[in-house]
Amino acid sequence: MARVSFQDELCKGCGLCVAVCPKSILQLDNDRLNSKGYHPVTCIDQSRCIGCTFCAVQCPDSVITVEK
Ligand code: SF4
Ligand code: SF4
Repeated sequence: MARVSFQDELCKGCGLCVAVCPKSILQLDNDRLNSKGYHPVTCIDQSRCIGCTFCAVQCPDSVITVEK
């Protein structure tokens, strides 16, 4: 099973990772703000992550780590 994690403080809420996830399990967390004032991305269902790494590759700020 794959697992995706985020360095929340580095996220600028651009949504690029959200757009490329083939399982549509990433979304910006509107309930949280990081210290930069952005809503950080979050994974709504880790069990559906297939470990494709599309999100990590797309992120311009290396926020995302995918483990298999
Ligand atoms: S590794 Fe793939 S399936 Fe998992 S969250 Fe990232 S884009 Fe989505
Ligand atoms: S692509 Fe990177 S910076 Fe943009 S929302 Fe996703 S994790 Fe945050």
